[in-house]
Amino acid sequence: MNRIRMTTPLVEMDGDEMTRVLWAMIKEKLLLPFVDLKTEYYDLGLPHRDETGDQVTIDSAEATKRLGVAVKCATITPNAQRMTEYDLHEMWKSPNGTIRALLDGTVFRAPIRAEGISPVVRTWKAPITIARHAYGDIYKNTEMRVPGAGRAELVFTAEDGTETRKTIQEFKGPGVVQGVHNLDGSIASFARSCFEYALSLKQDLWFSAKDTISKTYDADFRDIFQRIYDEEYREAFEKAGITYFYTLIDDAVARVIRSEGGFIWACKNYDGDVMSDMLATAFGSLAMMTSVLVSPDGKYEYEAAHGTVTRHYYRYLKGEATSTNPTATIFAWSGALRKRGELDGLDDLVMFADLLEEATLDTIAGGVMTKDLAALWEGDAAAVTSEEFLDAVAERIREEMEDADDGDDEAVIDFETVVLRDEEGNEESFALVYRAMRGDDEYAVLLSDDEEGSVLIVRCVYEQDDCSYEPVDEETADDIFDEFQAECPEFFDDDPEDPEDE
Ligand code: NAP
Ligand code: MG
Repeated sequence: MNRIRMTTPLVEMDGDEMTRVLWAMIKEKLLLPFVDLKTEYYDLGLPHRDETGDQVTIDSAEATKRLGVAVKCATITPNAQRMTEYDLHEMWKSPNGTIRALLDGTVFRAPIRAEGISPVVRTWKAPITIARHAYGDIYKNTEMRVPGAGRAELVFTAEDGTETRKTIQEFKGPGVVQGVHNLDGSIASFARSCFEYALSLKQDLWFSAKDTISKTYDADFRDIFQRIYDEEYREAFEKAGITYFYTLIDDAVARVIRSEGGFIWACKNYDGDVMSDMLATAFGSLAMMTSVLVSPDGKYEYEAAHGTVTRHYYRYLKGEATSTNPTATIFAWSGALRKRGELDGLDDLVMFADLLEEATLDTIAGGVMTKDLAALWEGDAAAVTSEEFLDAVAERIREEMEDADDGDDEAVIDFETVVLRDEEGNEESFALVYRAMRGDDEYAVLLSDDEEGSVLIVRCVYEQDDCSYEPVDEETADDIFDEFQAECPEFFDDDPEDPEDE
Protein backbone atom coordinates (compact mmCIF):
# COMPACT_ATOMS: atom_id res chain seq x y z
CA MET A 1 0.00 0.00 0.00
CA ASN A 2 1.44 3.39 -1.01
CA ARG A 3 1.18 6.12 1.58
CA ILE A 4 -0.59 9.26 0.38
CA ARG A 5 1.68 12.14 -0.48
CA MET A 6 1.52 15.65 1.02
CA THR A 7 3.40 18.70 -0.20
CA THR A 8 2.72 21.54 2.29
CA PRO A 9 2.75 20.77 6.03
CA LEU A 10 -0.28 21.30 8.27
CA VAL A 11 0.15 23.35 11.41
CA GLU A 12 -0.36 20.77 14.15
CA MET A 13 -1.37 22.17 17.55
CA ASP A 14 -1.23 19.48 20.23
CA GLY A 15 -3.27 19.92 23.41
CA ASP A 16 -4.20 18.58 26.82
CA GLU A 17 -5.61 15.71 28.87
CA MET A 18 -7.88 13.08 27.28
CA THR A 19 -7.90 14.75 23.88
CA ARG A 20 -4.07 14.72 23.88
CA VAL A 21 -4.21 10.96 24.45
CA LEU A 22 -6.74 10.56 21.61
CA TRP A 23 -4.60 12.83 19.40
CA ALA A 24 -1.63 10.47 19.58
CA MET A 25 -3.84 7.41 18.98
CA ILE A 26 -5.50 8.98 15.93
CA LYS A 27 -2.11 9.76 14.43
CA GLU A 28 -0.74 6.31 15.16
CA LYS A 29 -3.76 4.30 14.00
CA LEU A 30 -5.57 6.39 11.37
CA LEU A 31 -3.02 8.72 9.79
CA LEU A 32 0.61 7.57 9.84
CA PRO A 33 -0.07 4.13 8.29
CA PHE A 34 -1.83 5.72 5.31
CA VAL A 35 -0.49 9.24 4.82
CA ASP A 36 3.05 10.50 4.47
CA LEU A 37 2.05 13.04 7.11
CA LYS A 38 3.76 16.44 6.98
CA THR A 39 3.13 18.77 9.92
CA GLU A 40 4.78 21.70 11.64
CA TYR A 41 4.30 20.67 15.29
CA TYR A 42 3.43 23.10 18.11
CA ASP A 43 2.86 21.74 21.59
CA LEU A 44 0.02 23.79 23.08
CA GLY A 45 -0.23 21.45 26.05
CA LEU A 46 -0.48 23.58 29.21
CA PRO A 47 2.97 22.65 30.62
CA HIS A 48 4.67 23.77 27.41
CA ARG A 49 2.58 26.95 27.15
CA ASP A 50 3.70 27.73 30.69
CA GLU A 51 7.38 27.00 29.88
CA THR A 52 7.31 29.30 26.84
CA GLY A 53 5.33 32.09 28.50
CA ASP A 54 2.54 31.25 26.02
CA GLN A 55 4.84 32.19 23.10
CA VAL A 56 4.12 28.81 21.52
CA THR A 57 0.45 29.77 21.07
CA ILE A 58 1.43 32.96 19.25
CA ASP A 59 3.97 31.05 17.14
CA SER A 60 1.33 28.50 16.14
CA ALA A 61 -1.08 31.26 15.07
CA GLU A 62 1.68 32.94 13.05
CA ALA A 63 2.44 29.59 11.42
CA THR A 64 -1.24 29.29 10.47
CA LYS A 65 -1.08 32.69 8.78
CA ARG A 66 1.97 31.48 6.85
CA LEU A 67 0.88 27.94 5.92
CA GLY A 68 -2.89 28.48 5.70
CA VAL A 69 -4.27 25.33 7.38
CA ALA A 70 -4.06 24.17 11.00
CA VAL A 71 -5.50 21.34 13.07
CA LYS A 72 -5.86 21.85 16.82
CA CYS A 73 -6.38 19.56 19.79
CA ALA A 74 -8.53 20.79 22.69
CA THR A 75 -6.56 22.73 25.32
CA ILE A 76 -7.07 23.73 28.92
CA THR A 77 -8.02 27.34 29.58
CA PRO A 78 -6.48 27.85 33.03
CA ASN A 79 -8.52 28.92 36.03
CA ALA A 80 -7.57 29.16 39.71
CA GLN A 81 -7.76 25.40 40.22
CA ARG A 82 -5.50 24.73 37.19
CA MET A 83 -2.93 27.22 38.60
CA THR A 84 -2.26 24.84 41.49
CA GLU A 85 -2.81 21.62 39.54
CA TYR A 86 -0.14 22.61 36.95
CA ASP A 87 1.92 24.94 39.18
CA LEU A 88 1.60 27.72 36.58
CA HIS A 89 3.59 30.96 36.39
CA GLU A 90 0.52 32.87 35.18
CA MET A 91 -3.16 32.33 34.42
CA TRP A 92 -2.60 32.15 30.64
CA LYS A 93 -5.40 33.31 28.37
CA SER A 94 -7.54 30.92 26.36
CA PRO A 95 -5.41 29.69 23.41
CA ASN A 96 -8.52 29.75 21.22
CA GLY A 97 -9.09 33.39 22.09
CA THR A 98 -5.46 34.25 21.33
CA ILE A 99 -5.48 32.41 17.98
CA ARG A 100 -8.84 33.88 17.00
CA ALA A 101 -7.65 37.40 17.76
CA LEU A 102 -4.41 36.96 15.78
CA LEU A 103 -6.26 35.53 12.76
CA ASP A 104 -9.19 37.97 13.14
CA GLY A 105 -11.28 34.88 12.51
CA THR A 106 -14.83 33.64 12.85
CA VAL A 107 -15.75 30.29 14.37
CA PHE A 108 -18.08 27.99 12.44
CA ARG A 109 -19.65 25.09 14.31
CA ALA A 110 -21.21 22.16 12.50
CA PRO A 111 -22.67 18.89 13.79
CA ILE A 112 -21.49 15.53 12.43
CA ARG A 113 -24.44 13.47 11.28
CA ALA A 114 -24.31 9.72 11.99
CA GLU A 115 -26.78 7.09 10.89
CA GLY A 116 -28.85 5.84 13.80
CA ILE A 117 -28.57 9.10 15.71
CA SER A 118 -31.52 11.19 14.60
CA PRO A 119 -31.81 14.91 15.08
CA VAL A 120 -34.74 16.04 17.19
CA VAL A 121 -36.08 17.91 14.15
CA ARG A 122 -37.13 15.20 11.71
CA THR A 123 -36.77 17.31 8.55
CA TRP A 124 -33.05 18.01 9.10
CA LYS A 125 -31.12 15.86 6.67
CA ALA A 126 -27.84 17.79 6.44
CA PRO A 127 -25.83 19.67 9.05
CA ILE A 128 -26.59 23.30 9.82
CA THR A 129 -23.43 25.31 10.40
CA ILE A 130 -23.57 28.27 12.76
CA ALA A 131 -21.23 31.23 12.39
CA ARG A 132 -21.06 33.38 15.49
CA HIS A 133 -19.66 36.90 15.43
CA ALA A 134 -17.34 36.72 18.41
CA TYR A 135 -16.87 40.43 19.10
CA GLY A 136 -18.81 43.07 21.00
CA ASP A 137 -22.51 43.57 21.75
CA ILE A 138 -23.48 42.50 25.28
CA TYR A 139 -20.17 40.59 25.67
CA LYS A 140 -18.38 43.96 25.87
CA ASN A 141 -21.14 45.98 27.49
CA THR A 142 -21.18 48.61 30.19
CA GLU A 143 -24.22 48.36 32.37
CA MET A 144 -25.61 50.18 35.33
CA ARG A 145 -28.32 49.87 37.89
CA VAL A 146 -30.52 52.96 37.93
CA PRO A 147 -31.40 53.67 41.57
CA GLY A 148 -34.36 55.97 40.99
CA ALA A 149 -35.82 58.80 38.91
CA GLY A 150 -33.50 60.59 36.47
CA ARG A 151 -32.40 60.74 32.81
CA ALA A 152 -30.18 58.14 31.13
CA GLU A 153 -28.35 59.42 28.02
CA LEU A 154 -26.15 58.09 25.26
CA VAL A 155 -23.23 60.51 24.78
CA PHE A 156 -20.56 60.33 22.09
CA THR A 157 -17.62 62.71 22.43
CA ALA A 158 -15.67 63.08 19.18
CA GLU A 159 -11.88 63.63 19.14
CA ASP A 160 -12.48 67.36 18.60
CA GLY A 161 -14.65 67.49 21.71
CA THR A 162 -18.07 67.81 20.03
CA GLU A 163 -20.78 65.87 21.80
CA THR A 164 -23.74 64.00 20.37
CA ARG A 165 -26.49 63.13 22.85
CA LYS A 166 -29.57 60.95 22.82
CA THR A 167 -31.95 60.26 25.66
CA ILE A 168 -32.30 56.59 26.45
CA GLN A 169 -35.02 56.96 29.07
CA GLU A 170 -36.48 59.43 31.48
CA PHE A 171 -36.66 57.20 34.54
CA LYS A 172 -39.55 57.77 36.92
CA GLY A 173 -38.26 55.09 39.27
CA PRO A 174 -35.46 52.47 39.58
CA GLY A 175 -34.38 50.23 36.63
CA VAL A 176 -31.33 49.12 34.62
CA VAL A 177 -29.44 50.50 31.62
CA GLN A 178 -26.62 49.23 29.41
CA GLY A 179 -24.39 50.45 26.61
CA VAL A 180 -23.11 48.12 23.86
CA HIS A 181 -21.03 48.71 20.76
CA ASN A 182 -19.59 47.09 17.69
CA LEU A 183 -16.97 48.04 15.08
CA ASP A 184 -17.41 48.26 11.31
CA GLY A 185 -14.02 46.61 10.88
CA SER A 186 -14.96 43.63 13.01
CA ILE A 187 -18.33 43.23 11.28
CA ALA A 188 -16.63 43.39 7.88
CA SER A 189 -14.11 40.69 8.87
CA PHE A 190 -16.98 38.56 10.13
CA ALA A 191 -18.84 39.01 6.85
CA ARG A 192 -15.78 38.13 4.74
CA SER A 193 -15.07 35.00 6.80
CA CYS A 194 -18.69 33.91 6.27
CA PHE A 195 -18.58 34.51 2.51
CA GLU A 196 -15.23 32.69 2.26
CA TYR A 197 -16.49 29.70 4.19
CA ALA A 198 -19.76 29.50 2.23
CA LEU A 199 -17.73 29.38 -0.99
CA SER A 200 -15.44 26.76 0.46
CA LEU A 201 -18.39 24.53 1.46
CA LYS A 202 -20.48 25.53 -1.58
CA GLN A 203 -23.42 26.13 0.74
CA ASP A 204 -25.94 28.97 0.96
CA LEU A 205 -25.31 31.67 3.55
CA TRP A 206 -28.04 33.21 5.70
CA PHE A 207 -27.52 36.21 7.92
CA SER A 208 -30.10 37.29 10.45
CA ALA A 209 -30.54 40.26 12.77
CA LYS A 210 -33.36 42.47 14.05
CA ASP A 211 -33.07 45.52 11.80
CA THR A 212 -36.82 46.29 11.96
CA ILE A 213 -36.38 47.20 15.64
CA SER A 214 -32.71 48.16 15.72
CA LYS A 215 -32.76 50.56 12.78
CA THR A 216 -29.18 51.81 13.20
CA TYR A 217 -27.27 49.13 15.10
CA ASP A 218 -28.54 45.94 13.46
CA ALA A 219 -29.06 47.79 10.18
CA ASP A 220 -25.30 48.50 10.19
CA PHE A 221 -24.62 44.73 10.25
CA ARG A 222 -27.14 44.16 7.44
CA ASP A 223 -25.68 46.93 5.27
CA ILE A 224 -22.04 45.88 5.73
CA PHE A 225 -22.89 42.30 4.79
CA GLN A 226 -24.81 43.47 1.71
CA ARG A 227 -22.11 45.87 0.54
CA ILE A 228 -19.31 43.30 0.85
CA TYR A 229 -21.46 40.70 -0.86
CA ASP A 230 -22.25 42.99 -3.80
CA GLU A 231 -18.72 44.31 -4.19
CA GLU A 232 -16.62 41.24 -3.50
CA TYR A 233 -18.56 37.99 -3.56
CA ARG A 234 -21.72 38.17 -5.71
CA GLU A 235 -19.96 36.95 -8.84
CA ALA A 236 -18.22 34.04 -7.10
CA PHE A 237 -21.47 33.01 -5.39
CA GLU A 238 -23.37 33.01 -8.69
CA LYS A 239 -20.62 30.97 -10.31
CA ALA A 240 -20.71 28.46 -7.43
CA GLY A 241 -24.51 28.28 -7.66
CA ILE A 242 -25.05 29.37 -4.04
CA THR A 243 -27.01 32.27 -2.57
CA TYR A 244 -26.65 34.83 0.19
CA PHE A 245 -29.68 36.32 1.84
CA TYR A 246 -30.52 38.45 4.82
CA THR A 247 -33.63 37.87 6.91
CA LEU A 248 -35.03 38.81 10.30
CA ILE A 249 -33.85 36.60 13.18
CA ASP A 250 -37.41 35.45 13.94
CA ASP A 251 -37.97 34.50 10.32
CA ALA A 252 -34.61 32.69 10.28
CA VAL A 253 -35.56 30.62 13.35
CA ALA A 254 -38.83 29.54 11.73
CA ARG A 255 -37.09 28.70 8.45
CA VAL A 256 -34.31 26.74 10.19
CA ILE A 257 -36.82 24.47 11.90
CA ARG A 258 -38.68 23.80 8.64
CA SER A 259 -35.49 23.36 6.57
CA GLU A 260 -33.60 20.24 5.50
CA GLY A 261 -30.31 21.75 6.70
CA GLY A 262 -27.19 22.04 4.58
CA PHE A 263 -26.52 25.79 4.89
CA ILE A 264 -24.54 28.29 6.97
CA TRP A 265 -26.35 30.57 9.38
CA ALA A 266 -24.43 33.68 10.38
CA CYS A 267 -25.53 35.13 13.71
CA LYS A 268 -24.70 38.13 15.84
CA ASN A 269 -22.76 37.36 19.01
CA TYR A 270 -25.65 36.60 21.37
CA ASP A 271 -27.82 34.85 18.79
CA GLY A 272 -24.88 32.64 17.85
CA ASP A 273 -24.14 31.80 21.47
CA VAL A 274 -27.70 30.65 22.12
CA MET A 275 -28.49 29.09 18.75
CA SER A 276 -25.30 27.02 18.56
CA ASP A 277 -26.10 25.30 21.85
CA MET A 278 -29.65 24.69 20.67
CA LEU A 279 -28.46 23.19 17.39
CA ALA A 280 -25.76 21.06 19.05
CA THR A 281 -28.26 19.51 21.41
CA ALA A 282 -30.94 19.07 18.74
CA PHE A 283 -28.45 17.33 16.42
CA GLY A 284 -27.15 14.88 19.05
CA SER A 285 -24.14 15.51 21.22
CA LEU A 286 -21.26 17.87 21.91
CA ALA A 287 -18.84 15.07 21.10
CA MET A 288 -20.19 15.15 17.51
CA MET A 289 -19.59 18.84 16.89
CA THR A 290 -16.75 20.29 14.82
CA SER A 291 -15.45 23.79 14.88
CA VAL A 292 -13.54 25.70 12.18
CA LEU A 293 -11.89 29.08 12.61
CA VAL A 294 -11.84 30.95 9.28
CA SER A 295 -9.99 34.23 8.80
CA PRO A 296 -11.28 36.89 6.38
CA ASP A 297 -8.34 36.16 4.06
CA GLY A 298 -9.11 32.43 3.97
CA LYS A 299 -6.87 30.74 6.58
CA TYR A 300 -8.40 27.71 8.32
CA GLU A 301 -8.00 26.11 11.74
CA TYR A 302 -9.95 22.92 12.44
CA GLU A 303 -10.81 21.45 15.84
CA ALA A 304 -13.39 19.56 17.87
CA ALA A 305 -15.92 21.82 19.60
CA HIS A 306 -15.63 19.97 22.92
CA GLY A 307 -12.99 20.42 25.61
CA THR A 308 -10.26 18.17 26.99
CA VAL A 309 -12.78 15.78 28.66
CA THR A 310 -11.11 16.09 32.04
CA ARG A 311 -13.24 13.54 33.93
CA HIS A 312 -12.29 10.82 31.46
CA TYR A 313 -8.62 11.82 31.70
CA TYR A 314 -8.53 11.35 35.49
CA ARG A 315 -9.92 7.84 34.97
CA TYR A 316 -7.34 7.23 32.23
CA LEU A 317 -4.58 8.24 34.67
CA LYS A 318 -5.83 5.55 37.05
CA GLY A 319 -5.23 3.00 34.29
CA GLU A 320 -8.81 2.73 33.08
CA ALA A 321 -9.49 2.32 29.33
CA THR A 322 -12.02 5.07 28.67
CA SER A 323 -14.80 5.25 26.10
CA THR A 324 -14.17 8.84 24.99
CA ASN A 325 -15.58 9.75 21.58
CA PRO A 326 -12.78 10.69 19.13
CA THR A 327 -15.15 11.48 16.22
CA ALA A 328 -14.96 15.29 16.33
CA THR A 329 -11.16 15.17 16.63
CA ILE A 330 -10.96 12.76 13.65
CA PHE A 331 -13.11 15.22 11.69
CA ALA A 332 -10.79 18.05 12.65
CA TRP A 333 -7.97 16.11 10.97
CA SER A 334 -10.06 15.14 7.94
CA GLY A 335 -11.21 18.75 7.52
CA ALA A 336 -7.62 20.01 7.62
CA LEU A 337 -6.27 17.30 5.31
CA ARG A 338 -9.09 17.92 2.79
CA LYS A 339 -8.44 21.68 2.77
CA ARG A 340 -4.69 21.06 2.37
CA GLY A 341 -5.43 18.65 -0.49
CA GLU A 342 -7.71 21.18 -2.20
CA LEU A 343 -5.20 23.99 -1.88
CA ASP A 344 -2.30 21.85 -3.13
CA GLY A 345 -4.27 20.02 -5.83
CA LEU A 346 -3.73 16.60 -4.21
CA ASP A 347 -6.78 14.53 -5.18
CA ASP A 348 -5.57 11.50 -3.25
CA LEU A 349 -5.36 13.50 -0.05
CA VAL A 350 -8.89 14.84 -0.55
CA MET A 351 -10.09 11.29 -1.20
CA PHE A 352 -8.35 10.06 1.94
CA ALA A 353 -10.09 12.77 4.00
CA ASP A 354 -13.44 11.58 2.63
CA LEU A 355 -12.49 7.98 3.37
CA LEU A 356 -11.47 8.84 6.93
CA GLU A 357 -14.91 10.37 7.57
CA GLU A 358 -16.79 7.57 5.82
CA ALA A 359 -14.92 4.89 7.74
CA THR A 360 -15.72 6.66 11.03
CA LEU A 361 -19.42 7.07 10.24
CA ASP A 362 -19.70 3.51 8.82
CA THR A 363 -18.18 2.15 12.01
CA ILE A 364 -20.87 3.93 14.04
CA ALA A 365 -23.61 2.90 11.57
CA GLY A 366 -22.34 -0.68 11.98
CA GLY A 367 -23.18 -0.48 15.70
CA VAL A 368 -19.66 0.04 17.06
CA MET A 369 -19.36 3.29 19.01
CA THR A 370 -18.31 4.98 22.22
CA LYS A 371 -20.52 5.10 25.28
CA ASP A 372 -21.92 8.60 24.74
CA LEU A 373 -23.32 7.60 21.34
CA ALA A 374 -24.53 4.17 22.42
CA ALA A 375 -26.85 5.99 24.80
CA LEU A 376 -28.39 7.94 21.89
CA TRP A 377 -28.39 5.18 19.30
CA GLU A 378 -31.57 3.63 17.98
CA GLY A 379 -30.82 -0.08 18.11
CA ASP A 380 -28.40 -2.48 19.76
CA ALA A 381 -25.08 -0.79 20.09
CA ALA A 382 -21.89 -2.16 21.60
CA ALA A 383 -20.11 0.53 23.59
CA VAL A 384 -16.38 0.06 23.04
CA THR A 385 -13.29 1.84 24.33
CA SER A 386 -11.74 4.70 22.36
CA GLU A 387 -8.91 2.42 21.31
CA GLU A 388 -11.24 -0.34 20.09
CA PHE A 389 -13.27 2.22 18.17
CA LEU A 390 -10.15 3.61 16.47
CA ASP A 391 -8.98 0.08 15.62
CA ALA A 392 -12.35 -0.62 13.96
CA VAL A 393 -12.10 2.59 11.94
CA ALA A 394 -8.50 1.78 10.94
CA GLU A 395 -9.58 -1.67 9.77
CA ARG A 396 -12.21 -0.14 7.47
CA ILE A 397 -9.70 2.33 6.01
CA ARG A 398 -7.21 -0.49 5.41
CA GLU A 399 -9.82 -2.59 3.59
CA GLU A 400 -10.83 0.31 1.36
CA MET A 401 -7.24 1.25 0.56
CA GLU A 402 -6.30 -2.35 -0.25
CA ASP A 403 -9.36 -2.72 -2.51
CA ALA A 404 -8.33 0.42 -4.33
CA ASP A 405 -4.78 -0.94 -4.76
CA ASP A 406 -6.10 -4.25 -6.15
CA GLY A 407 -8.26 -2.32 -8.59
CA ASP A 408 -5.18 -0.60 -10.00
CA ASP A 409 -3.28 -3.84 -10.43
CA GLU A 410 -6.11 -5.53 -12.31
CA ALA A 411 -6.29 -2.73 -14.82
CA VAL A 412 -2.63 -3.23 -15.66
CA ILE A 413 -2.06 -6.98 -15.64
CA ASP A 414 -5.40 -8.61 -16.38
CA PHE A 415 -4.67 -9.59 -19.99
CA GLU A 416 -5.15 -13.03 -21.44
CA THR A 417 -1.88 -14.84 -21.90
CA VAL A 418 -1.35 -16.55 -25.27
CA VAL A 419 1.44 -19.09 -25.77
CA LEU A 420 2.64 -19.60 -29.36
CA ARG A 421 4.90 -22.44 -30.53
CA ASP A 422 7.13 -22.19 -33.63
CA GLU A 423 8.13 -25.07 -35.99
CA GLU A 424 11.08 -26.00 -33.76
CA GLY A 425 8.76 -26.27 -30.75
CA ASN A 426 10.08 -23.10 -29.02
CA GLU A 427 7.41 -21.43 -26.89
CA GLU A 428 6.91 -17.71 -26.62
CA SER A 429 4.25 -16.08 -24.39
CA PHE A 430 2.29 -12.99 -25.30
CA ALA A 431 -0.30 -10.74 -23.66
CA LEU A 432 -3.46 -10.41 -25.72
CA VAL A 433 -4.12 -6.68 -25.45
CA TYR A 434 -6.68 -5.96 -28.16
CA ARG A 435 -9.32 -7.67 -30.30
CA ALA A 436 -10.68 -6.39 -33.64
CA MET A 437 -13.30 -7.67 -36.10
CA ARG A 438 -13.13 -7.61 -39.92
CA GLY A 439 -16.40 -9.09 -41.20
CA ASP A 440 -16.80 -12.40 -39.39
CA ASP A 441 -13.07 -12.73 -38.74
CA GLU A 442 -11.62 -11.93 -35.34
CA TYR A 443 -8.07 -10.61 -34.94
CA ALA A 444 -5.92 -10.09 -31.88
CA VAL A 445 -2.99 -7.87 -31.03
CA LEU A 446 -0.34 -9.70 -28.99
CA LEU A 447 2.53 -8.14 -27.08
CA SER A 448 5.53 -10.33 -26.43
CA ASP A 449 6.27 -10.95 -22.76
CA ASP A 450 9.88 -11.77 -23.53
CA GLU A 451 10.89 -9.16 -26.04
CA GLU A 452 10.03 -5.53 -25.25
CA GLY A 453 8.15 -3.77 -27.99
CA SER A 454 7.59 -6.87 -30.14
CA VAL A 455 4.02 -6.90 -31.47
CA LEU A 456 2.27 -9.70 -33.33
CA ILE A 457 -1.08 -9.52 -35.09
CA VAL A 458 -2.93 -12.79 -35.61
CA ARG A 459 -6.31 -14.16 -36.69
CA CYS A 460 -8.22 -16.14 -34.07
CA VAL A 461 -9.58 -19.47 -35.24
CA TYR A 462 -12.10 -21.14 -32.99
CA GLU A 463 -12.69 -24.88 -32.92
CA GLN A 464 -15.24 -25.83 -30.28
CA ASP A 465 -13.69 -24.53 -27.04
CA ASP A 466 -10.20 -24.22 -28.47
CA CYS A 467 -8.69 -21.19 -30.06
CA SER A 468 -5.64 -21.16 -32.28
CA TYR A 469 -3.89 -18.20 -33.88
CA GLU A 470 -2.94 -17.85 -37.55
CA PRO A 471 -0.52 -15.39 -39.17
CA VAL A 472 -2.09 -12.64 -41.30
CA ASP A 473 -1.00 -10.70 -44.39
CA GLU A 474 0.87 -7.44 -44.00
CA GLU A 475 -1.97 -5.21 -45.20
CA THR A 476 -4.48 -6.61 -42.66
CA ALA A 477 -1.84 -6.44 -39.90
CA ASP A 478 -1.19 -2.74 -40.64
CA ASP A 479 -4.91 -2.02 -40.69
CA ILE A 480 -5.51 -3.73 -37.33
CA PHE A 481 -2.43 -2.10 -35.83
CA ASP A 482 -3.70 1.37 -36.85
CA GLU A 483 -7.02 0.68 -35.15
CA PHE A 484 -5.25 -0.58 -32.02
CA GLN A 485 -3.11 2.54 -31.93
CA ALA A 486 -6.16 4.79 -32.25
CA GLU A 487 -8.21 2.93 -29.63
CA CYS A 488 -5.47 2.30 -27.07
CA PRO A 489 -3.22 5.36 -26.95
CA GLU A 490 -2.10 4.39 -23.46
CA PHE A 491 0.23 1.79 -24.97
CA PHE A 492 1.99 4.50 -26.95
CA ASP A 493 2.38 7.25 -24.35
CA ASP A 494 5.93 7.75 -23.26
CA ASP A 495 5.71 8.10 -19.50
CA PRO A 496 8.60 10.33 -18.44
CA GLU A 497 8.31 9.09 -14.88
CA ASP A 498 8.72 5.47 -15.88
CA PRO A 499 12.42 4.68 -15.49
CA GLU A 500 12.10 1.86 -18.04
CA ASP A 501 11.57 4.46 -20.74
CA GLU A 502 14.92 6.09 -20.06
P1 NAP B 1 -15.58 19.05 27.98
O1 NAP B 1 -14.16 18.70 27.99
O2 NAP B 1 -16.18 19.29 26.63
O3 NAP B 1 -16.39 17.92 28.72
C1 NAP B 1 -17.67 18.07 29.29
C2 NAP B 1 -18.36 16.73 29.39
O4 NAP B 1 -18.96 16.44 28.13
C3 NAP B 1 -17.42 15.57 29.66
O5 NAP B 1 -17.17 15.40 31.01
C4 NAP B 1 -18.18 14.42 29.03
O6 NAP B 1 -19.27 14.00 29.84
C5 NAP B 1 -18.79 15.08 27.81
N1 NAP B 1 -17.88 15.01 26.64
C6 NAP B 1 -17.27 16.03 26.01
N2 NAP B 1 -16.55 15.58 24.97
C7 NAP B 1 -16.69 14.24 24.96
C8 NAP B 1 -16.16 13.21 24.13
N3 NAP B 1 -15.34 13.49 23.10
N4 NAP B 1 -16.52 11.94 24.38
C9 NAP B 1 -17.35 11.66 25.39
N5 NAP B 1 -17.87 12.58 26.21
C10 NAP B 1 -17.55 13.87 26.01
O7 NAP B 1 -15.84 20.41 28.81
P2 NAP B 1 -15.37 20.83 30.28
O8 NAP B 1 -15.33 19.65 31.18
O9 NAP B 1 -16.20 21.98 30.61
O10 NAP B 1 -13.89 21.37 30.10
C11 NAP B 1 -12.72 20.60 30.31
C12 NAP B 1 -11.48 21.40 29.90
O11 NAP B 1 -11.54 21.66 28.50
C13 NAP B 1 -11.38 22.75 30.57
O12 NAP B 1 -10.08 22.90 31.10
C14 NAP B 1 -11.65 23.77 29.48
O13 NAP B 1 -10.84 24.90 29.64
C15 NAP B 1 -11.27 23.02 28.24
N6 NAP B 1 -12.02 23.41 27.04
C16 NAP B 1 -11.31 23.56 25.89
C17 NAP B 1 -11.95 23.84 24.70
C18 NAP B 1 -11.11 23.98 23.46
O14 NAP B 1 -9.91 23.85 23.49
N7 NAP B 1 -11.71 24.20 22.33
C19 NAP B 1 -13.34 23.95 24.66
C20 NAP B 1 -14.06 23.76 25.84
C21 NAP B 1 -13.39 23.47 27.01
P3 NAP B 1 -19.17 12.78 30.90
O15 NAP B 1 -18.04 13.11 31.81
O16 NAP B 1 -20.52 12.82 31.54
O17 NAP B 1 -18.93 11.53 30.11
MG1 MG C 1 -23.46 29.18 24.70
